[in-house]
Amino acid sequence: MASPSNDTIFGKILRGEIPCDQVYADDQCLAFRDVQPQAPVHLLVIPRQSISDLAQADGQHQALLGHLLLVAAKVAQQEGLGSWRTVINTGAEAGQTVFHLHLHVIGGRPLAWPPG
Ligand code: AMP
Repeated sequence: MASPSNDTIFGKILRGEIPCDQVYADDQCLAFRDVQPQAPVHLLVIPRQSISDLAQADGQHQALLGHLLLVAAKVAQQEGLGSWRTVINTGAEAGQTVFHLHLHVIGGRPLAWPPG
């Protein structure tokens, strides 16, 4: 089957075409370890639905976005974290490189603020 033109590496992960180090999955989303971790724990939570970034989300995604946040907290706690940072980069200038909405869950070391 041909990939959709807006396909990303996360689309390939969702379809099982490339592997990931999965830590959680349900009917709405998937969570797995980032291949280039920025901290001892660095997870990504992605919706199964293809939404390129937060700017493309609207009211129809409200429940899904809430679910993704709750899953981010669940997987952080599953990893034993008491403190962590949840990040959504939106747009290339903000550091977004994969244009399939994703939440970073980063922890396991002290995190500076403000971010770079
Ligand atoms: P962002 O820069 O916010 O778009 O984040 C994209 C993240 O995806 C980066 O932290 C990458 O290291 C991560 N990433 C890219 N490809 C993969 C992959 N195949 N498996 C896991 N993480 C990936």
